[in-house]
Amino acid sequence: MIWQLNNSEQTQQLAYDIASIIEEGTVIVLTGDLGAGKTTFSKGFARGLGIDQMIKSPTYTLIREYDTGRLPLYHMDVYRLESGADELGLEEYFDSDGICLIEWGQLIADQLPDDYLTFTLTKTGDQTRQLTITSQGTKAQQLQQKIKQQIKAID
Ligand code: ADP
Ligand code: MG
Repeated sequence: MIWQLNNSEQTQQLAYDIASIIEEGTVIVLTGDLGAGKTTFSKGFARGLGIDQMIKSPTYTLIREYDTGRLPLYHMDVYRLESGADELGLEEYFDSDGICLIEWGQLIADQLPDDYLTFTLTKTGDQTRQLTITSQGTKAQQLQQKIKQQIKAID
């Protein structure tokens, strides 16, 4: 599943559309190089959950929680986490009904639950990006199919 995104607004709109059909307890790994648009995507995603607050990058705080939307959002950036992952109590977030959106989540692959989606943003030009979605586990695979059916993709 690949989406072509021609500018930041399209990235945020796609994120908004996906968030509006996302299901409770979903874990999403958000990968892509620095500047690929992970935080930009997260802003549209939060809005799609009905969160009005300003979304700031959790680069230094590692995790930011938003409780004012349709579902709680746990926005994480684990780039700087290194070995101290236990201290964040990730398991508790993963087991909750909220949505975990984890920038650089592939770096903690060994600590992720059995079931999760991976959203990969790839820079294809100054303003253009591609979003690819893959899944691990049965529940995530079903959700991936739902996204594929309900949101128009190029692939
Ligand atoms: P990351 O969190 O992956 O490091 P950011 O979202 O912080 O990336 O930054 C992405 C930058 O690229 C922003 O300045 C954004 O305006 C710019 N940009 C340009 N085109 C796009 C696009 N199609 N999608 C997302 N960001 C884009
Ligand atoms: Mg970021």
